[in-house]
Amino acid sequence: MNTVIEIKHLEKHFGDLRVLNDINFTIERGKVVTIIGSSGSGKSTLLRCINLLEVPDAGEILFNGQNILKGDLDASTYRSKVGMVFQNFNLFSNKTVLENCMIGQIKVLKKSKEEARAEAMKQLKAVGMDKFADASSTKLSGGQKQRVAIARALCMKPEVLLFDEPTSALDPEMVGDVLDVMKELAKEGLTMAVVTHEMQFAREVSDVVCFMDKGVIAEMGTPEEVFEHPKTERAKQFLSRYS
Ligand code: ADP
Ligand code: MG
Repeated sequence: MNTVIEIKHLEKHFGDLRVLNDINFTIERGKVVTIIGSSGSGKSTLLRCINLLEVPDAGEILFNGQNILKGDLDASTYRSKVGMVFQNFNLFSNKTVLENCMIGQIKVLKKSKEEARAEAMKQLKAVGMDKFADASSTKLSGGQKQRVAIARALCMKPEVLLFDEPTSALDPEMVGDVLDVMKELAKEGLTMAVVTHEMQFAREVSDVVCFMDKGVIAEMGTPEEVFEHPKTERAKQFLSRYS
């Protein structure tokens, strides 16, 4: 099956505020979907709904055809297959880099310490952070923290990795390192959904670009379609701020 995640008619309200309105799209295996749009348009809420950090009010989330909101798959199993990388890293600050990468493998995947350590070191090496394995995570720069957060997510062997503005909290000189790691992951065929304001990255790496506006996907297409030939006035306006 080539579709990993299918979102159908997804709705989310916070009180009277309708944050997601009839959201429909798919994430295909081995592909990169990027989600762009102004602040407040619902991008984070969408990712949080996909990862069940928020409970949608209506609609369906199908994961390999299983209806997640109907409980076809239990939430913790599902979450271990759909990883998330946050803007603010969310590392455990009282743990070392290595411990951050081991704990989920031990607690959720029930791996032995030895197995968890070996996988953690492999993933840390892949993001260039193996030399910091024994460092306290509080001692790292933002860019280093984010690379560790990506390694930690990869240790869980997710089928899909969701990124919510992974470079927005970084000093400019750190952004490139994190984007390089993400480009490499895309090249290796990791299935990814990425909320980002890095338009050059989105252009280069995306298979599909979704432009969100006020809780709806206002445009969706290839980078060529969305960036070169936007159809809606809203998308044209939004993109003009980046050119
Ligand atoms: P984006 O990530 O595109 O900036 P968000 O998904 O964070 O947008 O937010 C969309 C809208 O939902 C905003 O108006 C925001 O204030 C509101 N919102 C987000 N989370 C909550 C919450 N937990 N409670 C109430 N309103 C929320
Ligand atoms: Mg957001």
